[in-house]
Parts: sequence; C-alpha cells; structure tokens
Amino acid sequence: MHHPLELDLDKTFLSHAPGYWADRGVSAGDWNNATWQLKNRIISLKQLEEHLVLTPDERNGVLLSGTKLAMAITPHFFNLIDRENPDCPIRRQIIPRIEETLTSPYEMADPCGEDSHMPVPGLVHRYPDRVLFLVTDRCAAYCRYCTRSRVVSGVGEQELETDFEAAFRYLEQHEEIRDVLLSGGDPLLFSDGKLEKILERLRRIPHLEFLRIGSRVPIFLPQRITPELCAMLKKFHPLFMSVHVNHPRELTLEVKEALGRLADAGIPLGNQSVLLRGVNDDLAVMKTLVHKLLMCRVRPYYLYQLDLIQGSSHLEVPVEEGIRLIEGLRGHTTGYAVPQYVIDAPGGGGKVPVNPDYVLQRTPERTLIRNFEGRTFEYPEPSPLGAPVLDY
Ligand SMILES: *Cc1c(COP(=O)(O)O)cnc(C)c1O
Ligand code: SF4
Repeated sequence: MHHPLELDLDKTFLSHAPGYWADRGVSAGDWNNATWQLKNRIISLKQLEEHLVLTPDERNGVLLSGTKLAMAITPHFFNLIDRENPDCPIRRQIIPRIEETLTSPYEMADPCGEDSHMPVPGLVHRYPDRVLFLVTDRCAAYCRYCTRSRVVSGVGEQELETDFEAAFRYLEQHEEIRDVLLSGGDPLLFSDGKLEKILERLRRIPHLEFLRIGSRVPIFLPQRITPELCAMLKKFHPLFMSVHVNHPRELTLEVKEALGRLADAGIPLGNQSVLLRGVNDDLAVMKTLVHKLLMCRVRPYYLYQLDLIQGSSHLEVPVEEGIRLIEGLRGHTTGYAVPQYVIDAPGGGGKVPVNPDYVLQRTPERTLIRNFEGRTFEYPEPSPLGAPVLDY
C-alpha cells in the first residue's frame, strides 16, 4: 500500500490547536475547554458541509445512517482530517458512509454476545473474575465501527439501561470478582464528581482489587484530562486505563500531554486498537503507531479484529493480514510495542488470542520453533528418564 501522506509515518507530535478554527474566530481559551469542544461537536450534515466537501458516499452515509449510530465529531478530532483526501484514515473512522447501510448475513447487532451475559442491566460478566461495567451510552465522538453501536449514542433501537444499585449489589455478592472495567460509552464524559462517586462505591467493596477505565476521551477530547480529574483518579489506585488509538495521526501534542498527565498520576496506560481497512492495515503505519504510543507512555495492549458489527464490511481486514502485521512487529521492534492480536469470538466466546505460528512442530522429544527471521531452532524436551545424573 502506498502512503498518501508521509506525515503519517513521521513521529512528530504536531499541535492541532486551534488552527483552522482560529481563523473562524475561536479563541484558545474556548478551544482548550472541554465543554466548548463538546458543545461545538459536528453533529449534522449542515455543520459537516460547512467544513468539508463530502463524497456522495459520505453524504448519503450521513443522511441514512443517523438512525443507527449518531454522528458526533469534536472540533479537536475534526482537525486531524485531511480535507483534500476522501480516503483519509481519520475520516474513515468518524464520518458515516453509505456502506454502513449494507449488512451481510454474518453481521450482528450484538456481535460479542454481551446482552446474553448481563446478570444485571449494564454489567457484563463473561469471564470468571472480572466484569465489564457499562456506565453510560455517550461518547465524546462516535466511531463508525463501534462494537456497541446497538446501544451507544442513544439513537439506535436498543437503549442502555444501567441499573447502578443492582450492579453494586451484584458486585458485593460476587466475591469471585476482583476486577471491574468501567466502559460504555465513555466513563470520562461523566463529571469528576459523578465518576468519583462510582469509584468510591466500588472501592468500598473489599474484594475488588483492581479497577480500570476504558476511554477514548484522551484522544477525542484531551481537554477533558484536567489536573483536577487526574488528582481525583489517583485516589483509587490500582487504577489502570485503556485508551483507543488506531492511527498515528491521532497522537497529537495535546493528546501526548493529556496522556502524560494521566501517567504522572500513576495510571498505567494501555492501548486498544481496532484493525481497520484503510486506517491501520499497513505495517509502516502500525509500527509508527506503536512507537508513538510508547513515546506517550502507553503500552499497546490489544489489536482487535473488527467485530462483525452491522454495516462494517468496508472496514474489515482479513485475519491473515492481521497475523502478518503482528509478525512484522514481533522481534523486529521493542517487545513492549507489540499488542496481542485478538478476535472477540462471535456470539460471546470472549477474546481469543491469534498469533503467528512460531512453533513448527512438537513431539515428546523436542519442540521445533522458528524466530522472527524465519530461522528454525530445536528445543529438546526434558528427558522422560529425569534429570541427568551428576557424575561425581
Ligand atoms: C474485554 C473484556 C474484559 C476485559 O478483558 P481483559 O482481557 O482482562 O482485558 C472483561 N469483560 C468483558 C465482557 C470484555 O469484553
Ligand atoms: S469511543 Fe468506544 S464506545 Fe464510543 S463509539 Fe468509539 S468504540 Fe464505541
């Protein structure tokens, strides 16, 4: 694949504030204010067309997909769009396309079978010792391929009806749960006070060892990551955060600083990327992404195969290509930079790791392996006769 923008392979953290919007009279004070960013999100075709010439597929996408998943783009994130390039990787993630109205027989509204694993509305308990707690259906901006598009944004057929009290009671009664992942939607859209109340409530449950928050706010709305928010979050350690970055251009100077504030508050940061056609299905782009993440003190955690969400086939990448991307990273670059590639098994099987084959053959006597360069090696198994006898 060619690179329309050499910029995307450049590891510079560019500032995107407020640039084009300053010419339209937006002050730096407004720009750096999360409330201003949220109030001025681009949510209608009219607003979008004030800023951008849409392709017919995008225009029809905006007109027809709005009943499934709302469109919303923060000015900050909008600034990353290359207005001249209809194939811009930021555009593909955030601007609806007509292809969203096409569904294949494999696609599902709830591809990960979350609804069938909810003992309490809003709480997904699929793994033995941890739960996913869906605390809101709102995000700062909406990803067109969202695995939870059936409930996020509030316009689809289904509504998220989290029962907080029932969820807390369930967590109290289930001592096997030691890890709670707050997600949604995006928990960081709550006010500091509201989020603090939830975290306090969770911390009163003694068997909860570990808390985490899944959020794309540091990327969509870095202005929300205030010193006050960080000071509040650090009271609840151990608290980890998983962010969601798919393309190196998303890591701007403002995002790097926001991530730095979280890291300075002692919050270990991981990244979850979704493998998307025309966005990050390219080794050079992926390598730039994972390197920039490490420079932002974020450890690449998961690379997700796209869930079989309705109307997402234009973003799908074959598993074969995903495996090749991992193969191109492992051994070739820092081990910390290599995410685990996973498929969330359709229908509710949970995350399944998918790896390149490095074990070529296993017999009771030996394991035949290959390294990242393709050279083969043999590892002998311990002898069934026990350890070699020392000959004194
Ligand atoms: C992803 C996920 C988790 C967390 O999984 P980890 O592998 O521990 O990060 C927990 N519950 C559900 C339902 C999930 O989808
Ligand atoms: S931020 Fe997360 S929950 Fe929100 S639309 Fe994007 S993928 Fe879905």
